[in-house]
Amino acid sequence: MRLANHDGRAVLLLADDKGADVATASSGTFGPDLQPIYERWAEFQAWAQESLPGLAPDVTIDRTLLGTPSPRPPQTIAIGLNYADHAAETGFEVPTNLPPVFAKWASSITGPHGEVALPPGGDTDWEVEVVAVIGRTAHEISPEAAWDHVAGLTVGQDLSERVLQFVGQPPQFGLAKSYPKFSPTGPWLVTTDELPDRDDLALGCSIDGEVVQDGRTSKLLFSIPRSIAKLSEILTLLPGDVIFTGTPDGVGLGRHPQRFLQPGETLRTWVEGIGEMEHTFC
Ligand code: ZN
Repeated sequence: MRLANHDGRAVLLLADDKGADVATASSGTFGPDLQPIYERWAEFQAWAQESLPGLAPDVTIDRTLLGTPSPRPPQTIAIGLNYADHAAETGFEVPTNLPPVFAKWASSITGPHGEVALPPGGDTDWEVEVVAVIGRTAHEISPEAAWDHVAGLTVGQDLSERVLQFVGQPPQFGLAKSYPKFSPTGPWLVTTDELPDRDDLALGCSIDGEVVQDGRTSKLLFSIPRSIAKLSEILTLLPGDVIFTGTPDGVGLGRHPQRFLQPGETLRTWVEGIGEMEHTFC
């Protein structure tokens, strides 16, 4: 199942460019707002699976109207240094028991298309990530049980302003990654049964057509289920929570010479089996 936030309404995709409005199709049982759907995810999924074969398209997808699949997540949690090659390029040690975890604040959330303002005097960097959306409350769960607590996956960019991030010790992870529109996700949520292999997905991004990151989630130090289990040792993960799972190597900070996003550039970000986002910078 692919679930989109189209012009603020929950839409089940029937094709890349066509969908069915959830509120209309369910006679108001679910939707139009996506956020409460995650609190009733099992019920919604059962309804969608039963209803999808009979749904007729009543929405033409306009990519510029797509919003983030979880528009008001209770928590947006990000995992750092979760690929060995990325840890190496940034000069940090590889985490062994628990990777660094930080928050991306709610005011930085945005959708899969649009223009992002570069903070003046900053060095804004790209970080493609697979993003998991929680579909069932999770506390002290095992890695084996973790996928059952995930509603689905989407594409994310953990945009990061490196001057502020490294202005002192300890680094300012949360603030530097929470400027307006620094947490885009989309283009829609995909349930993991739709994916070729939920534990080995290609992910990458390009700037003006030049591929700068090209990784696979099979190289995660803490796999998606292990990351969720680790977080749940401490946190209670809530339905609709958004988890950025870490970026592979190829960020601008680790390049020689370093490179950062410039006004006018276009950043395309993709994950295999999910889709892509496109942002420009000013
Ligand atoms: Zn990141």
